[in-house]
Amino acid sequence: MTEPVSYVSTRGTAPELGFDDVLLSGLARDGGLYVPDAWPQLGPDVWGLAGDVPYATLAAEVLWPFVAGGSVTRDDLDRMCADAYASFRHPGVVPLVPLGDDGTWLLELFHGPTLAFKDLALQLVGRLFDHVLSARGERLTIVGATSGDTGSAAIEACRDRESLDIVILHPAGRVSEVQRRQMTTVTAPNVHNVAVDGDFDDCQDLVKAMFNDIAFRDRLRLSAVNSINWARIVTQVVYYVAAVRRLGGGADPVAFAVPTGNFGNVFAAYAASRMGAPVDQLVIGSNTNDILHRFLQRGDMEMREVVPTTSPSMDIQVSSNFERLLFELDERNGHLVAAQLSQFRATGSMSLHATAMNELRSLFDSARFDDGEVAACMKDVHERHGVVLDPHSAIGLAAAREARLNPDVPMVVAATAHPAKFPDAVEAATGVRPGLPEHLADLFERPERLVSLPNDLAAVQSFVSDVSRVPV
Ligand SMILES: *Cc1c(COP(=O)(O)O)cnc(C)c1O
Repeated sequence: MTEPVSYVSTRGTAPELGFDDVLLSGLARDGGLYVPDAWPQLGPDVWGLAGDVPYATLAAEVLWPFVAGGSVTRDDLDRMCADAYASFRHPGVVPLVPLGDDGTWLLELFHGPTLAFKDLALQLVGRLFDHVLSARGERLTIVGATSGDTGSAAIEACRDRESLDIVILHPAGRVSEVQRRQMTTVTAPNVHNVAVDGDFDDCQDLVKAMFNDIAFRDRLRLSAVNSINWARIVTQVVYYVAAVRRLGGGADPVAFAVPTGNFGNVFAAYAASRMGAPVDQLVIGSNTNDILHRFLQRGDMEMREVVPTTSPSMDIQVSSNFERLLFELDERNGHLVAAQLSQFRATGSMSLHATAMNELRSLFDSARFDDGEVAACMKDVHERHGVVLDPHSAIGLAAAREARLNPDVPMVVAATAHPAKFPDAVEAATGVRPGLPEHLADLFERPERLVSLPNDLAAVQSFVSDVSRVPV
């Protein structure tokens, strides 16, 4: 029998919940993030599976302890994993390919419907939402703001799901044409794209204002599928386990380098290690928005303005999922976490006590690269290996090269996006304009559906209210 995991908040006061409620609530009521009350250990069920087991089977095996105890049965989970990963274009789902002969590998996480790693989590999370809501006879309205990748992955995950409506705001004229079309050409009746006359911060402020309007939020049962949702993190643990199994069967150590924004992806690698995967080193790759790198170097977390870069999905100042690591560094003292974060919000700066800082530095290494260095890495890897990387993946590789500690341990770089998502930056660096894969080849001929709205809360709320099918 699997002992079901229960979940506690990183801020120590919200009630403990089971998986179904953690899935639907996202943020805890005390403002914290949910984490498992103890880390389940990967056992022979996982390490003993045949080497060529399908990714979906491995996923169900790894995820079952986290999901058990609610409305999702083991059969449900098996079926949802099979469906979710059948939408990937590569039979291995997350192919691991060698880069040169020094033990560096690329873990290709971009073979899902929207060409970024977020599909690996969201394709399953969309199905889990629909399942849990249908079991309860409930509906939700998902709202979100996007500067690019998250919106399309969330739309693909929610399209045509009976229990969900999804409204995504993007800044008019400020997302790339590929990114916009990946959202607006999805014409499913429950998908609604809004081009806001403003920038990304305006879109985010509108979403926050809708959540802060309690009457509105409750009436439309607003929810979010952003990366603070535990279900997104845990589904990402699976591909780290897959890489460890591939390279050392679960016995030999493996290192990972991860291009990092909100700290969700690299936290999933950390979670894999807490579950017993032999992870030798974790390298955080940053762009110019390098708050985490500076923190590791200097021991002081200090907020700055966001600078736009060629890796826009990492243009983030405050990495929300860092709170989950902070909880571990503080020996799971939620009250201490809450105090540190309120100090950070008030002063824009935060430091850790020496033991926690030493622990952090023993767990993670980091490196940061500006746009010029990222372009140089893309050019070099294209010339030397004939491989075209997107700017985010290039930051992962550059970080791996700079920070790798042990040449005898395989170094796996998380390749988080397909180069065709960022054709201009890739072409400028390598001279190659990457083409879209076949399933998106006609993206530029497909009809678009979107509404344009002013940067005005009342106008946006009235639109959301009109399209939502949540019964009043
Ligand atoms: C979201 C994203 C990232 C950052 O991942 P986090 O989990 O937020 O650290 C990196 N690369 C790409 C392509 C992304 O879409």
